[in-house]
Amino acid sequence: MRMRKKKHGAERIAACADILIEDPRVLMADPSAVFASKEGVLCLEIGCGKGSFAVGMASEHPELNIIAMEKVADVCCVALERAKAHGESCSNNLRFIIGDASNIEEWFPPHCLDRIYLNFSDPWPKAGHAKRRLTYRAFLERYRNLLKAGGLLIFKTDNAGLFDFSLEELEAVGAEILWQTRDLHASDRADGNIMTEYEKNFSEKGFKICSVEARLG
Ligand code: SAH
Repeated sequence: MRMRKKKHGAERIAACADILIEDPRVLMADPSAVFASKEGVLCLEIGCGKGSFAVGMASEHPELNIIAMEKVADVCCVALERAKAHGESCSNNLRFIIGDASNIEEWFPPHCLDRIYLNFSDPWPKAGHAKRRLTYRAFLERYRNLLKAGGLLIFKTDNAGLFDFSLEELEAVGAEILWQTRDLHASDRADGNIMTEYEKNFSEKGFKICSVEARLG
């Protein structure tokens, strides 16, 4: 996600310090310790963009503890401010990391996560860039090592090519597909679906949203 460099970005991010995990290495000891309750279902969203999904999920599902990761600081700034504007309803159960998913093993201990969400991940359409896609098999293997036994990967995209690729990669690593659709908004999961910014944008333009939920191990 591209955007113009934010004026006073550092100050605006600093104003949200209570919900930002500034040094994600603290998570290694116990990732749930950053939340008000350690009992919550622990979820990681990779590439949260401007945060609509994470904020919506956190406020509608107090039973979840959500860590939302975004590599572009100015984009994450918008997500942090969105979460702050929601106040109490997500200050207990939502935290952010400004960082790149390529570092996840340095931040999360093995088998600590209940769910990983990928929403509208960059498609990297050139064949030569397949390894950069966040659903490439090497990433799936990494997610498997971070998920608890029975933990879930939940993916949404408007991009049919990326969806087909992702299903192949899931099959290649022996994942169990629990549910999938090529039209999420017409599916039995339309109710309760929390839209991301990209999802709202693409579905308003008539694109169908594909989604898959898989158990990695
Ligand atoms: N999930 C949001 C944004 C989708 S765009 C939505 O659905 O509206 C993809 C986002 O993922 C971008 O904001 C991009 O900066 C972020 N991203 C891409 N690769 C990433 C990585 N390796 N680690 C963290 N964030 C990443």
